[in-house]
Amino acid sequence: MGFCILDRSGNVLTRHHDIRMKARSVLPYTEIIMEVLLSREELSEGIDRLARLVEDDRGEQRLVLVGVLTGSIMLVADLLRRLDGFIEVGMVAASSYRGLETTPGKLDLHLDLLPDVSQKHVLLVDDIFDTGRTMTALVEAIYARGAASVKSLVLLRKTSRTEVVMQPDYVGFNIPDVFVVGYGLDHNGAWRNLPEICLIDVSVGS
Ligand code: 5GP
Ligand code: MG
Repeated sequence: MGFCILDRSGNVLTRHHDIRMKARSVLPYTEIIMEVLLSREELSEGIDRLARLVEDDRGEQRLVLVGVLTGSIMLVADLLRRLDGFIEVGMVAASSYRGLETTPGKLDLHLDLLPDVSQKHVLLVDDIFDTGRTMTALVEAIYARGAASVKSLVLLRKTSRTEVVMQPDYVGFNIPDVFVVGYGLDHNGAWRNLPEICLIDVSVGS
């Protein structure tokens, strides 16, 4: 039974002791190998850049920042502390009944926690833009609630998988078509607590 995270030079990072324990108890894998795709420093710089772009565009505008549960929680928290002025926060949930990897199924939206957005400017924040179906449906649903404007921000975008016309207004990082976990993103419920974005080989042991 083993678990390791590699940096981009193939060196084993050994500081995830608690995660390693968790891996033993909750996952059926005999071996899990992860590679850091985006380090804490890279994520932090990317979010600095996103926050500057949002601030430049909004000027004095009041915002309703709407995060998409559950993958966006870290991004929402880190972005919020970099934004000034009047900001309300709300959350929505979206699930697309995925199987093991990234095959999207029927999209289910839950807007019950969305605050009143009528006549307000909304910044919709999600972890990753994959096919784009989730963001497209959410932008439409928030406009249907009477928002004055809806801009979309994602930490990651898989450029080769887009199935929709819409593109996010703000993108942190473009990534190849690989399955990533960490910094809020999960695989079967685990790994959201990793502070980096890691590439996980979901075929290993599953
Ligand atoms: P879309 O509707 O754009 O195809 O799907 C976006 C959603 O799919 C994301 O919010 C996320 O929940 C999930 N997703 C897509 N790619 C990945 C990935 O590489 N890792 C994880 N953990 N979730 C993903
Ligand atoms: Mg999601």
